[in-house]
Amino acid sequence: MLSSKKKYIVNGNSGIKAQIQFADQKQEFNKRPTKIGRRSLSRSISQSSTDSYSSAASYTDSSDDETSPRDKQQKNSKGSSDFCVKNIKQAEFGRREIEIAEQEMPALMALRKRAQGEKPLAGAKIVGCTHITAQTAVLMETLGALGAQCRWAACNIYSTLNEVAAALAESGFPVFAWKGESEDDFWWCIDRCVNVEGWQPNMILDDGGDLTHWIYKKYPNMFKKIKGIVEESVTGVHRLYQLSKAGKLCVPAMNVNDSVTKQKFDNLYCCRESILDGLKRTTDMMFGGKQVVVCGYGEVGKGCCAALKAMGSIVYVTEIDPICALQACMDGFRLVKLNEVIRQVDIVITCTGNKNVVTREHLDRMKNSCIVCNMGHSNTEIDVASLRTPELTWERVRSQVDHVIWPDGKRIILLAEGRLLNLSCSTVPTFVLSITATTQALALIELYNAPEGRYKQDVYLLPKKMDEYVASLHLPTFDAHLTELTDEQAKYLGLNKNGPFKPNYYRY
Ligand code: NAD
Repeated sequence: MLSSKKKYIVNGNSGIKAQIQFADQKQEFNKRPTKIGRRSLSRSISQSSTDSYSSAASYTDSSDDETSPRDKQQKNSKGSSDFCVKNIKQAEFGRREIEIAEQEMPALMALRKRAQGEKPLAGAKIVGCTHITAQTAVLMETLGALGAQCRWAACNIYSTLNEVAAALAESGFPVFAWKGESEDDFWWCIDRCVNVEGWQPNMILDDGGDLTHWIYKKYPNMFKKIKGIVEESVTGVHRLYQLSKAGKLCVPAMNVNDSVTKQKFDNLYCCRESILDGLKRTTDMMFGGKQVVVCGYGEVGKGCCAALKAMGSIVYVTEIDPICALQACMDGFRLVKLNEVIRQVDIVITCTGNKNVVTREHLDRMKNSCIVCNMGHSNTEIDVASLRTPELTWERVRSQVDHVIWPDGKRIILLAEGRLLNLSCSTVPTFVLSITATTQALALIELYNAPEGRYKQDVYLLPKKMDEYVASLHLPTFDAHLTELTDEQAKYLGLNKNGPFKPNYYRY
């Protein structure tokens, strides 16, 4: 294995050079409600940690077990009690979920194989705070296979899959998380990951910035040993840039949220896959022949439009930017103002990242049974607050589905109260999460192995070469055969045969 070891030299965005080594690297392209009585430990948890998030159904959750996991004494089969999960006995179910996720996470599985002779994360002590799902479990077990020790908490009080947390705890990962944590539990779990005798983290993997914030606030001295932070979310990245601007960031941080592969897959392909799922699960509707207006023709809007068009819907688009507007026209969509179609459409979908795109005036003019939902980041796109007036009646007809009824009997169908439809009401494809998780793993390897001085106390984007590497690791799934540049062609284009293949300003 080791004999075929090859070095990857990665040129970063800021001229940074990184080296990742793997064996055999021939690239084969060919809150439960807040518990009263427990004092809250800190500031409120971030918005992202309370946004409802459904990744997969829970099969074994017994609602009759109301005991807080903090009050339970549990041990795994090896006798360890260094974890806190809902019910360790659910481990077997969680293991099955993890095995299913592994099938759709080829890049992480490839990293595991390639790391067999070598451990690029040997000595790494990673403290993580992310959604605890089967996909995260595949990431954690990969980090373990690469040599790291991990301790983990959940970044969202609702998103933990209890069975998966149990399976991780059973296989020896100190996991502190359960579905329905209170705010106090949330910070307690994070603290249990960090505040351990004889163990100190040297890497942080965060999603939302709460873990990073906690360490800054409670254990600032820990940063002396921490080699870097890898941050996944828009919110967390924003916080890091703020810290950096204020001169308070004391270690290098990697912004994986803005890497090309993550953006394309999370925004375009993920939404193309999940918009229909979210609509179908909540309304059982048929898409053929329905008139839909999609507000915003960025990556998310493009994904939604493509999916609905493929199902035979008649799709209208609204845009403020002439370039995206022209793209919509060239893709065969009618560009309209929302006012022009609001009376006739069956579905309204917002994906602008903006606020008050759908106003009370629009809502008043919609036809009976119009479905209204949002695929943008926050619940500001539809003016839901304007619907909380005495003359309108709200009827909860299903989980995440409200009928809002006007005095004349007209009703609109509001999904997830205007929050992100796909995260609230459908699953996110594992393959998309595979790309994100691989990006996180590579960012950790890069920061952990970077020689002193390569990264300063600043926020960095993942080097483009690594972005390309993440994509390449996913190609074998499709039996895709990538063309290699000839020497002559590489010289002609002024490229290294092994990439990076595009300048940083290239728009994919
Ligand atoms: P983007 O910037 O590429 O696209 C947004 C588009 O909306 C832009 O083209 C902009 O010109 C347009 N726009 C802004 N205001 C408008 C208005 N008043 N009317 C019509 N169009 C308007 O962003 P994106 O990557 O498509 O993301 C859009 C939103 O979705 C963001 O909030 C993002 O965080 C979120 N997002 C959601 C998911 C998901 O899974 N649902 C995934 C990724 C991103």
